Amino acid sequence: MKLFALIGHPLGHSFSKSYFTEKFKREHIDACYALFDLATIDELPRLLASHPDLCGFNVTIPYKEAIIPYLDELDDVAQEVGAVNTVKVLPNGKMKGYNTDVLGLEHLISRFSLPNSQPALLLGTGGASKAVQYVLRKNGIPFHLVSRSSGKADFTYDELTPDIIKSHLLIVNATPVGMFPHIEVAPLIPYEAITNRHILFDLIYNPEETRFLRHGREHGADTINGIGMLHAQAEASWDIWD
Ligand code: NAP
Repeated sequence: MKLFALIGHPLGHSFSKSYFTEKFKREHIDACYALFDLATIDELPRLLASHPDLCGFNVTIPYKEAIIPYLDELDDVAQEVGAVNTVKVLPNGKMKGYNTDVLGLEHLISRFSLPNSQPALLLGTGGASKAVQYVLRKNGIPFHLVSRSSGKADFTYDELTPDIIKSHLLIVNATPVGMFPHIEVAPLIPYEAITNRHILFDLIYNPEETRFLRHGREHGADTINGIGMLHAQAEASWDIWD
């Protein structure tokens, strides 16, 4: 039986485990999907040595960038994004890294007509944000970044004015703020300036409607959660492993 897995820390309930376990059962694929909670990424070589049947794995928080030095090869997209969420173990034991978050986002973006005459506002500067930046660039959508730290992005949250919100019709939350179990919080932006011309996209998929999306909906914006992207990135991982 082939083994696939998710590495990250901490690993609570995992979408990937249920998704692949159900997929393997439904499609009669002789494989299983395990969760490997690694306290540090240094534990990876020992994990690989003890699981020679591992054919591929997904990588989640906080190792999407830290995994790169452990890989033998990087796909061009993962190289450009600077983050990896899917690893294929090649027949010679070498490991190749891919970024299927990008494919998931592209799938999503293709289904919505996004405002591309104005810059998008992208909250967060981590691995998921880098995937969004890659896709926005590729689709010719300019963007400004927002970070908690000054010097790392175009704006800090304190610098965001209602005028800035009005001039950015696509706002993407690529931070974990509002994710279960901390569902009562939302990124600190002036929501009062959101209009029915805005689109708010949250990469978070649990809960289905975050506070960020709820504030957007209450101001008339179109809202998109991270579920579509999640499914598309999982299927793209399988296409790479299969
Ligand atoms: P991450 O690296 O832990 O965090 C992303 C960025 O968010 C950080 O670099 C940081 O940017 C900002 N941030 C972190 N904690 C914050 C806080 N308390 N307040 C304000 N900003 C904060 O996470 P990630 O891997 O990029 O993922 C971000 C989110 O996207 C997660 O919720 C993840 O589940 C989701 N995601 C969803 C999918 C999907 O398929 N739907 C795929 C990938 C990721 P600054 O330091 O610059 O502020």
